[in-house]
Amino acid sequence: NKMVKSDIEIAQQSTLLPIKDIAKKIGLTEDDLDFYGKYKAKISFEKIHNVQTNTDGKLILVTSINPTPAGEGKSTVTVGLSDALHSIGKKVMIALREPSLGPTMGMKGGATGGGYSQVLPMEDINLHFTGDIHAITTANNALAALMDNHIQQGNQLQIDPRRIVWKRCLDLNDRALREIVIGLGGPGQGVPREDGFDITVASEIMAVLCLASDLQDLKLRLSKMVIAYNYDKQPVTVGDLGVEGALALLLKEALKPNLVQTIEHTPALVHGGPFANIAHGCNSVMATKTALKLADYVVTESGFGADLGAEKFLNIKARSAGLTPSAVVIVATIRALKMHGGVAKNELSDENVAALEAGLENLKKHVETVERFGLPFVVAINRFTSDTKSEISLLQNWCEKNGISVALTEVWEKGGQGGIELARKVLDVIENSHPAFKPLYKLESSLEEKIRTIIQQVYGGKDVDFSAQALKQLNDFKQFGWDKLPVCMAKTQYSLSDDPSKLGRPRDFIVHVRELKPKLGAGFIVAITGDIMTMPGLPKRPAAYNMDVDDKGRAIGLF
Ligand code: ADP
Repeated sequence: NKMVKSDIEIAQQSTLLPIKDIAKKIGLTEDDLDFYGKYKAKISFEKIHNVQTNTDGKLILVTSINPTPAGEGKSTVTVGLSDALHSIGKKVMIALREPSLGPTMGMKGGATGGGYSQVLPMEDINLHFTGDIHAITTANNALAALMDNHIQQGNQLQIDPRRIVWKRCLDLNDRALREIVIGLGGPGQGVPREDGFDITVASEIMAVLCLASDLQDLKLRLSKMVIAYNYDKQPVTVGDLGVEGALALLLKEALKPNLVQTIEHTPALVHGGPFANIAHGCNSVMATKTALKLADYVVTESGFGADLGAEKFLNIKARSAGLTPSAVVIVATIRALKMHGGVAKNELSDENVAALEAGLENLKKHVETVERFGLPFVVAINRFTSDTKSEISLLQNWCEKNGISVALTEVWEKGGQGGIELARKVLDVIENSHPAFKPLYKLESSLEEKIRTIIQQVYGGKDVDFSAQALKQLNDFKQFGWDKLPVCMAKTQYSLSDDPSKLGRPRDFIVHVRELKPKLGAGFIVAITGDIMTMPGLPKRPAAYNMDVDDKGRAIGLF
């Protein structure tokens, strides 16, 4: 449809208010802000400290079914629901993640919402924004350089160059950097060793920044990060190297939440951007908690499906930060459900009620997962123009028959006005239900038990299979006393299983854990499953080929 405007066209035709005016709506003055131009600002540590005595607003968590290339629209619904709450007079804020340049340059589709439900200025937010991710990259690589220099300068800590776990990072999809050799060229060029790059949004420093409660906690977490093992196979930390102060200094501005606005001028904090497949997938605790102090309702999003982002939001972030969502929104699209029901990508615009019905199994699994966590929820049908009447009523009827609150959501097309029904249903659920939130596993359980619980209760799988390396690591980590930490699963987003080709609701599958990684600063152990990689690659035709900039400096083709 040629009449449909692209996300960037809509964004560029919107009128922004000065950010100080947006700040005023939530009781912030110019003194509380560090300005990054007219439309972006960071909130000062002093202000964050001073609002701690305010009572908390209600937290609404947006999640979804397993994503397909058809698109789900969690960010779009997060923004649209907030605009809807704003339009009916509620004091509301958004807490979203910031986009990574990896997917921006790679796959089509931004991370700032879409249609008439976007956060602005979308060009800035999708490109370098306020530089947080660059700061994280720099801190990560400063640590790598300091560690390699330590080895070069006599290696007092006896770091074994064959047992270094700290990788370099870059916020791009660059598969050629996954495995590299550094330090070649003789004694003056360092100690040769194998190294590799992760994407910045999968780095531990990103997780640390997102989970830290303040600067002091940031520094403490940085000091706990394991970088290597010594010749006695004992862990070496940043604290041993003694550089947590320098790293915290590099990150001090990045730790402050970024304030922006939606097309409808709802205040939004966009801060922290870990991926939900290879990292923990939630925006920062500082932003979420600050928003809860400043607004009555906070809408936040966790990445990919409820098997990844929401599971980690609830088992990791909520537990460590003491957060309890008052309601969950599960976003589903008819297109994606049809794909889960077996329809090919190029046939999604044709009506197919039978495939939709088959695909409902995927939604059902995520509904069960949210119920397992003891949380009330609403299903949001993110409407696409290709959805037909009979498809929509099938989905609505199925929800009603199963006692599930459901709202047809048209925020992509209509902005907040398209989300009023969803807003009312979410408010209704918040008022009339009593969340009995509990994480799914106890921290005291073994790592193996925790992983098995996630596989069986969240993914609906049968069991776990550990590689020889992972089995050895389970043993080592127990010796080091790390087995009481929560687990951050790294798994494909496309399937409930670890095999991206298994759509719908696979059953009786085994999840293969290849490797475990200690992330003691973040406070979790990463379990790498299937073929998932912590440095993505670019697709055959990266989105970058569509991008340009005009003579006035305006972005072209950025989604
Ligand atoms: P998610 O947060 O689940 O990754 P987004 O909200 O970022 O998804 O949306 C991904 C893309 O899909 C965006 O480019 C957005 O414009 C598009 N999109 C979302 N909802 C709709 C819709 N209802 N109709 C058409 N396009 C949509």
